[in-house]
Formats: sequence, structure tokens, C-alpha cells
Amino acid sequence: MKGPILTLNAGSSSLKFALFETGATPIAGPKGIIDETFSTPHMVTVDSAGRQTSERYFPKVMPFPELVREVIDWADKQYGTTLGAVGHRVVHGGSQFTTPQVVSEKLLADLDALVALAPLHEPHNIAPMRYLLECNPNLPQIACFDTSFHRTMSDTAARFALPLRFEEDGVRRYGFHGLSYEYIAERFREIAPELATGRAIAAHLGNGASLCAMKDGRSIDTSMGFSALDGLVMGTRCGNLDPGVILYFMRRYGMGAAQIESLLYSRSGLLGLSGLSPDMRTLSQSKEAAAKDAIAAFVFRLVREIGAHIASLGGLDALIFTAGIGEHSPEIRKMTCERLRWLGLALDDSANARNDQRISSPDSRVGIFVIPTNEEYMIAKHVALAVDAV
Ligand code: ADP
Repeated sequence: MKGPILTLNAGSSSLKFALFETGATPIAGPKGIIDETFSTPHMVTVDSAGRQTSERYFPKVMPFPELVREVIDWADKQYGTTLGAVGHRVVHGGSQFTTPQVVSEKLLADLDALVALAPLHEPHNIAPMRYLLECNPNLPQIACFDTSFHRTMSDTAARFALPLRFEEDGVRRYGFHGLSYEYIAERFREIAPELATGRAIAAHLGNGASLCAMKDGRSIDTSMGFSALDGLVMGTRCGNLDPGVILYFMRRYGMGAAQIESLLYSRSGLLGLSGLSPDMRTLSQSKEAAAKDAIAAFVFRLVREIGAHIASLGGLDALIFTAGIGEHSPEIRKMTCERLRWLGLALDDSANARNDQRISSPDSRVGIFVIPTNEEYMIAKHVALAVDAV
């Protein structure tokens, strides 16, 4: 392929972008983010070493396609050559998309049909693809799905105990953070090949958080389900919740779907529990009892879910921490591993404090690792493979 690869990750209030030079493997270049995309957009770019190269405030609300155009114009200037291809992070690929797909009118129509499954995210993912297909039809675009990695889960693991006709209508567990887990599985094979063929749990602990149980690098279970609300306590999302609570909210307070959605997605989790912040670093540094209680609930539920995933795997050979909290918080890793000591997990405290790659002590029955994730790299790799194959 000629020309660099641009990755786009369009969220509900931000657009992240990154450039990769193409070679035997993609090489990370400059990148950036536009936040507040639907109010007062603010764009920051950095070079490949993370040094800020530009900052721009847009004076007004901008139509989303114009922001995408700004990113394309920025990208075209970086290497003095036009883009070779664009890769998109797409939150939902439904049951049908098990691999990355070339963007076409047909694909966009298929993805439009999935909007009901991820109404808060999918439209933002689709918008840049549609815009670029219209204004730049010769630019190859590849859609990479956060659900694809979990398509190796059995129907038994994916099934809710509901009448089967709902499953036929798409009501099942899909799982998310798939690009992160795919990257972790690849890296883990390089770092510890003797363990990577066994039973591993990867804990992606960022603002969104989930677990993936992997056998020989393939997902067999995951803590997020039909939506990205399920499973662990997150920054602002509730995680696991008795469905009876939602019925209670509806009957007792007359709450409607939009109110419940906002409560469960944006005002719960660490923020709801602490009343202070959704941010783990802020809570760790706080002296407030509510911050400590929120962290305790986060760890309790994390350990409980790890236990469930160990049962799905039939044992455990490795535990891998990743994403913001997983990569940078020795405290959370220590609290988690101490509660799992009965299982034979033993931390090397100095390695843990240094955020080393392997943080288990030599006598630990389970290998414990910290592996920084890189979803953008995974997208770029898929793009390079897909475009060369066309
Ligand atoms: P996102 O899911 O938005 O990509 P990240 O993976 O960047 O988020 O994770 C963000 C979370 O990581 C925040 O809760 C943040 O406080 C936490 N975090 C980052 N650094 C640290 C740290 N040194 N100690 C504790 N938490 C941290």
C-alpha cells in the first residue's frame, strides 16, 4: 500500500485519530484528539514522541463531517503524501462481522441496521465512514469491530436465559474492547508463549472496563454483554445490575428509557459511588471515605468477576492488566491480587510498583503481567492486511 494509514475512533464526544507509516508492521506517527465534538470542539495533536504540535479551538458548533475534513487535511500534511487508507474503530459488528470489512454502501446499510444495538455509539462510528465514502470514494476504508474478537464465544456463553426468539432478534452477549484484547493476545504470545496457549484473563481497566477469558488466545467469555454497561464497576457506568432495579426505577419513580440510560451510563460507577469523580487517579489521591468505599467496591466486583471467568476457563495460568488503571495503578493491582492469594497468586511488590511487564513473584502459581494496550495499532495492522488483500 502507498501512503500512511489513518485510524479514526469516533466516540460520543470525541474523535481520536492516529497516523501510521506502512512497512512490515505499522509504525506509529503523529496523532491527536478533538474533544467536545458536539459543542465547542478543541483539537490537540502530538508528534510520535507525544510532544504537542498544535492546539486549536473551533469558535462554534461544527458539523461532524467538517471535523473529519479537518483531520484528513491535517493527515495529508504530515508526510507530504496523501493517505493510503483509513481504519475505523466500530463498536458493534453484530453477529455477522467476525473480521474487519471494506467500507461500501452495502456495509453501511448493514451497519445502519445495527444502530438499535448500540444507539449511543454506532451512529458516531458510521458518520465518518459515510462522509469519506461520499467525498473520497477512492480512499480505501476498513471498519474494525470491537465485538469481532468475542465471536469465538460459544452460544452457551453468549446466551441469556430468555425465550429463544429474542436471541434470534439479536439479544445476546456480544462483548466489547475486542481490539484491545486482540492486541493483548498477540503481545502475550510474544512475551510469554508458554502461557499464551493456556488459560488467561485480560483485565481492560480504563474508563470503560471489562474482562476477557482467553483459551489459547481466543475469547471464550467476557464480562460485557449485550451492551457496554454490563460487568465491572466503571468510571461512570454501573456494571452488573439486577434487572429488577430497572423495573423498580420505572414503577417507583416513573423513569423512562432516556433517564435510566443517562443514570446507568453517565452518573453511576465510581462517580456515582464516590459522589466525587469517575477518575481512579483522583479517587486514589483523595482522603474522603467515599473515595475509599468506591475503590473497595470496584475491587470487590473486579475480583468477583475474575472468579467467574476462572470458572469459565476451568483454572488460570495468567492474569494480565491493561488500559489506564491496569497499566498505571500498582495499588489497584495489589488490592486485586491480594484478594486472589488463595488461588496461589503472588505479586513481586517492587516489580508491581515499577509497572514492570511481569509482576508476579517466581513462586506465584499464576503469571501476572502488565501489558499496555494499543487499539490504534491493531486497527492499522488490520487495515494494512485488508488493503493489501484487496
Ligand atoms: P479510556 O477508557 O477512556 O481509554 P484509559 O484507558 O485512559 O481510559 O483509563 C482512564 C482511567 O485510568 C482513569 O480512571 C484514570 O484515572 C486511570 N489512571 C490513569 N493513570 C492512573 C494512575 N497512575 N493511577 C490510577 N489510575 C490511573
